[in-house]
Amino acid sequence: SSDDEGGEEYLFKIVIIGDSAVGKSNLLSRYARNEFNLHSKATIGVEFQTQSMEIDGKEVKAQIWDTAGQERFRAVTSAYYRGAVGALIVYDISRRTTFDSVGRWLEELKTHSDTTVARMLVGNKCDLENIRDVSVEEGKSLAEAEGLFFMETSALDSTNVKKAFEIVIREIYNNVS
Ligand code: GDP
Ligand code: MG
Repeated sequence: SSDDEGGEEYLFKIVIIGDSAVGKSNLLSRYARNEFNLHSKATIGVEFQTQSMEIDGKEVKAQIWDTAGQERFRAVTSAYYRGAVGALIVYDISRRTTFDSVGRWLEELKTHSDTTVARMLVGNKCDLENIRDVSVEEGKSLAEAEGLFFMETSALDSTNVKKAFEIVIREIYNNVS
């Protein structure tokens, strides 16, 4: 969209989805505030965080939405998805059940979106190598089969967190510009 000076500004809505306790809230707090919480409770109050980056000399703002824990009851509402142009679908590499749920999350995302959504499959908690339950190859091949970007991350030690968000933001930018 254009502003009054004839320049351009961008605001993209991105949603984070995936099973309970995979690290969605910590991925967002790591990216937006460089914070990690070992005993994080369900998010209260804040619906989203806004983070800016520069692409092609333009300010691009990402409004990144986090659930308030309603995914525990499989009750993420259509309002949550409304207008989203990017999504991180997160599982926990140390819990296979969360990987098995990815298909369901993709279906739900598709049901609620009426536009192209830049999608990244995120295998979080890659710091837990010693109790890994899903291989990197499995993550990669699911992503390939579904046409998603893929990255393993750790909100705990910061591995690939910034990268994962920024790849999605750049892809959205490419989709709209
Ligand atoms: P959410 O329910 O998906 O929002 O998950 P949370 O962000 O609340 O995290 C659930 C639990 O996993 C918390 O105890 C976090 O400290 C922990 N956690 C989140 N990310 C990581 C990570 O990258 N590595 C490890 N080891 N623990 C994590
Ligand atoms: Mg949460």
